[in-house]
Amino acid sequence: MDAKEVKTHVTNIEKAVKEKLPPTVLIDILNSLRTGVTATEQLLRDTKVGMAVNKLRMNSDRSVSDLAKEIVAKWKRDVHTKTKPSGSSSHDGKKERMVTVSPSRTPPKPSGKRPADLATRSRKTDNVNWQCTGEATRDNCLGIIYDALALGCDASSDALLSLAKSIESITFTNYKKTDAAYKRRMQVLFLNLKSKDNNLRNRVVSGEITPARLSTMESSEMASAQRRQADEKLMEENMRTAMMAKSEKSISDQLTCGKCGQKKVSYTQAQTRSADEPMTTFCTCEICSHRWKFS
Ligand SMILES: [Zn+2]
Repeated sequence: MDAKEVKTHVTNIEKAVKEKLPPTVLIDILNSLRTGVTATEQLLRDTKVGMAVNKLRMNSDRSVSDLAKEIVAKWKRDVHTKTKPSGSSSHDGKKERMVTVSPSRTPPKPSGKRPADLATRSRKTDNVNWQCTGEATRDNCLGIIYDALALGCDASSDALLSLAKSIESITFTNYKKTDAAYKRRMQVLFLNLKSKDNNLRNRVVSGEITPARLSTMESSEMASAQRRQADEKLMEENMRTAMMAKSEKSISDQLTCGKCGQKKVSYTQAQTRSADEPMTTFCTCEICSHRWKFS
């Protein structure tokens, strides 16, 4: 089945869990996922089906949890058999290596400005000479890139101006003239660099992303670089937990079963929602099989 269909199943799983529909509903969905999906990391991540099914491993209904475990194990195998030579991560690595315009990775000198001034920092407050390309359109684009880099940033104005110059000049070289496509690209760079959410500016200012690398990035890549990194880590972690759950299940004598009062409780932990929320601990009483969770 395609990603869209998988996503529909994910939505149905969430609905079934939320509305406490009978286990048969989940079992139906899981069965069609089991036969219909050959897992890739990308599919699991993009559709969030990996996380959805992973959560069901702890479902209170035994048939649901067993089926979910079976599927997670199968997907783990799917992902593993598709290992890497032409995988996307090595491709990215190659791109990175080809970019040899590497200014030092040491962060640029601080500006010496007060935090309050950083919040309104721009080419005007820094009084930099941004009109230096000899062409008004290019100057304006260089100027807005400077503004995007400078806002809230504590690097020296020399460092920021030189970065803005590199970014504009590479873009101009790519488009060869200041046409609509060039302007659109500069606008995209401006918006993404300025955005507080994606941390792109910090990565560019620190030298982690070079102007050359930046010039080849899709806007989706710029916007989500941060978030995707977190998602990937979470997926990996969940996959690992799924694999290890059986053998690495720990038994604690610190936890007390709420049903029978015994202190023989096994538990596993997983990140069930997003990467920046606390882990959830799933407990099973070894004596009476009562299950619960907390985070
Ligand atoms: Zn118990």
